[in-house]
Amino acid sequence: MTKKPLTNSLEYRNFIRDRDRVLEVLLRKSQLKVSDITRKYLTSILNLMASNYEKLIHIPQSNKHVSFYLDHIFDQWAAEVYREYMLLRKRTYIFTIITDNEAIARALDKEHKYTIENSDLVKALSRSSGSGGQLHKRILLSLTRLKHKVMDAASLGVVLDDSREEFIQRVYDSFPRQKKISNRRILKPQVIQSRESDKRHIAQRLSVGFYDERDWQDIVDEYKNDFITEFNGPEVYFPVEPGYQAHKTAAGDEVIYAWEVERDMTEDFVSAVREGMVDSANKNGIKEFMWIAIVDDKTDDCCLWRDGLTTSEIEKQLNSGKHKDDECRAVTPKAHWGCRCSMAPMTDDLPEYETKKLGDFDSWMNQ
Ligand SMILES: [Zn+2]
Ligand SMILES: [Zn+2]
Repeated sequence: MTKKPLTNSLEYRNFIRDRDRVLEVLLRKSQLKVSDITRKYLTSILNLMASNYEKLIHIPQSNKHVSFYLDHIFDQWAAEVYREYMLLRKRTYIFTIITDNEAIARALDKEHKYTIENSDLVKALSRSSGSGGQLHKRILLSLTRLKHKVMDAASLGVVLDDSREEFIQRVYDSFPRQKKISNRRILKPQVIQSRESDKRHIAQRLSVGFYDERDWQDIVDEYKNDFITEFNGPEVYFPVEPGYQAHKTAAGDEVIYAWEVERDMTEDFVSAVREGMVDSANKNGIKEFMWIAIVDDKTDDCCLWRDGLTTSEIEKQLNSGKHKDDECRAVTPKAHWGCRCSMAPMTDDLPEYETKKLGDFDSWMNQ
């Protein structure tokens, strides 16, 4: 029998599409949280610099003392960002496993039991960073780069005999900037036909999993609760328009700091989703996936030749030496940093008949 991708099933496609939207909300909440943390620490940095202005200008050696306090701020900052990464990884991984099991059960029209093992979760949480290296070191590296920029700006201000205002402005200019949060889809939507919303069918779970109920509740709360900003940004040092809010544009759009910490977090999130997809398919006895690339002018060669091929076809081509100049050895996405590819599990158990309608994703999630 020839294997077919599960995306041939409408139930599967609809379920995964709506699931991906929830995952992207979880990512956005974490981005907002990390930006809020960033506002808090950037304000601390500007406070530190402003209160040490006189000292820095008159006693250049005092920058050692300022650098020492900066290290302390950056250490605390890194620890808070790391905690948010871990929460996002955990939520993403667990939610992907639970929803993938349900989507697969729906496509195959089979009831199914699964367990999220502690060892799987530990593996997902201890995975190295998407940009390479241990995650906490990677976060510290990004923050250290910023520290150098801040210290450079301060040193230049001292050399140029900045006024207090000029000095504060110069340090502030070394900070990352906020930008409007993008509505770009992070997880590629599967190829979808018209939306199926047949409410006559009662919601039903086909898959039953063993996992900590508190983890599930945490995910649902995170998804549903509005994010509340706690901190003002370093802009409090400057005259601002009346009604100014640090976390929103004048038009009311949410903003986040667009810099390497944020980009790394998005990459990390995509890795957690793909890893969860592979793990839940494997546990359903599925080892074969079809590679799905987004093909546009940004697609690179390595993602392009894999597009539409199955895991074993990719393996075969890699072993044949046909792609010698392809450094990437991936047989399932992600291939590399910035890879937008997705995948469809392949099976020969896909029923020929139309599977029963079990209600949409929202009614499933709200059971
Ligand atoms: Zn690629
Ligand atoms: Zn790719």
